[in-house]
Amino acid sequence: MEHKTQLLVVGAGAAGLTAALYARRAGMDVIVLGRAPYGGQIAETAMIENYPALPLTDGYTFASALYQQAASLGAKLISAEVTGVLALSAQQRTLQTADGSKYTGEKLVLAVGAKRRKLGCPGEERLLGSGVSYCASCDGAFFRGKTVAVVGGGNTALEDALTLSALCERVYLIHRRDAFRGEKYLEEAVHKKQNIQPILQEEVAEIEGAQHVEAVRLKNRKEVLAVDGVFVAVGQEPDTALFRAFVNCDGGGYFIAGEDCKTNLPGVFAAGDCRTKLLRQIVTAAADGAVAAFSASQEVQSGM
Ligand code: NAP
Repeated sequence: MEHKTQLLVVGAGAAGLTAALYARRAGMDVIVLGRAPYGGQIAETAMIENYPALPLTDGYTFASALYQQAASLGAKLISAEVTGVLALSAQQRTLQTADGSKYTGEKLVLAVGAKRRKLGCPGEERLLGSGVSYCASCDGAFFRGKTVAVVGGGNTALEDALTLSALCERVYLIHRRDAFRGEKYLEEAVHKKQNIQPILQEEVAEIEGAQHVEAVRLKNRKEVLAVDGVFVAVGQEPDTALFRAFVNCDGGGYFIAGEDCKTNLPGVFAAGDCRTKLLRQIVTAAADGAVAAFSASQEVQSGM
């Protein structure tokens, strides 16, 4: 099947869905291609308490509301994985999805987000789904009353440790530096929890277990900690690989685009966590989505 639209958006996270709702309000036809569940990383976020004027909420509720808002304004939201680029230039933008469909956008917003980084130690891949997880809010309930390790020192690791401390008997929080790099309020909350044991200046050498995670072997202390699960929270990598041959990226693989979200290709915009930027948050992703849609609609109106 071939589909044509004025604005094609890839990614149904905060940036993509906000681009869709702004573009619809500007009168553009919009198709959003996104992997279910919609919401991208927000859907996996346990609690959001830094979105201005929004009371404390969970990521799933936030993502669902954003999805409904974009859909009710008339954006076509299609659950599909983009698997190929058929044309990506100043003249034409056509993408292919896993089912063989082709989508052409007069303008294109790339809001592909970022995905969780791997630790890269032995055992991680083999025991994925058998005690190794990248999402505490999705999988935490399977570890009720058990002992787990969280690896990482940023906001995600701190949040994951807090989420798991409410479910698990004991949570080791393993970080390679001598200080966490997340927000202070999260760090303070972690220190108040009796059942979270921070282990600093330490790395995981191996995740051990025959069929299921049984232990983590530490690199520096050469100690083995008996655990039932390992939650990896060591940051993200942009999901830009498919587009890097066409759109300029920085050394980390993030699309190079300024505050106007314009990439090196006219008619192609980058929005959200996949764009070069100082701060990757829901509020900055949503702001990008709005700006990208505005830039795209301006180009359409001026006949570019
Ligand atoms: P992050 O801030 O990039 O932190 C990644 C952490 O993992 C760092 O502490 C890093 O160590 C460590 N790390 C990286 N590679 C490692 C490896 N191979 N082995 C061991 N440790 C490794 O990532 P994030 O925590 O996922 O957060 C991503 C973005 O989302 C941030 O901008 C964050 O603020 C935002 N976020 C916000 C919230 C919130 O506001 N509630 C919640 C979640 C995420 P070093 O410190 O040594 O580099």
